[in-house]
Amino acid sequence: METATNTRDINKKREGYLEWPEYFMATAFLAAKRSKDPCSQVGACIVNEHNVIVGTGYNGMPKGCHDEEFPWSKESKNELENKYLYVCHAELNAILNKNSANVRNCSLYVGLFPCNECAKVIIQSGIKEVIYMSDKHSKKISTIASKRMLDAARVTYWQLIPKNRRIVIDFDEINWNEQNQLPASPAPVQVSKMMENLTIAGTTAKPLQFDEIVDN
Ligand SMILES: [Zn+2]
Repeated sequence: METATNTRDINKKREGYLEWPEYFMATAFLAAKRSKDPCSQVGACIVNEHNVIVGTGYNGMPKGCHDEEFPWSKESKNELENKYLYVCHAELNAILNKNSANVRNCSLYVGLFPCNECAKVIIQSGIKEVIYMSDKHSKKISTIASKRMLDAARVTYWQLIPKNRRIVIDFDEINWNEQNQLPASPAPVQVSKMMENLTIAGTTAKPLQFDEIVDN
């Protein structure tokens, strides 16, 4: 079996690199892996007009509201013991986590189509585009309301259908011994050779030069 190593052409751009939309959606999916929600793990990734990530988030309890003390259930008869009243959705967290002054004109990548509450925050923050993977709640009134608001506010949305169905992060994938990002080091210079070019201070010392400088 041929490996990626022995088929690569080091003089050409590498093939098989991640394209931007898949990279950003994969970043959202990676963030989702932080979620403690047993039923639904959603991640979001906000990207500015220069393809720079300016925020990520996943669904979780607010800061200080500890996962051990707040419920992850969704079926309790007591609504106070269900998660819905407490959880911050991925989109909200990504916007609040932004590391830029604002997220105006940014795009938001998210695993699941935003609910109506997140749509409000998306619109008010100036995000102009939503890219999602699943629209499985399209029949729910919260999604219908969400689309009504996004449409009115001219926030565009489209579904990403990735070319790669699986993106695996394998910490052992990269063979660091074969990585060669830096130019080759100059050949080692022997100290004894260097010393030949030096004379004792106070005499006509020739400056140490690794290469002769021609100064015309
Ligand atoms: Zn939401």
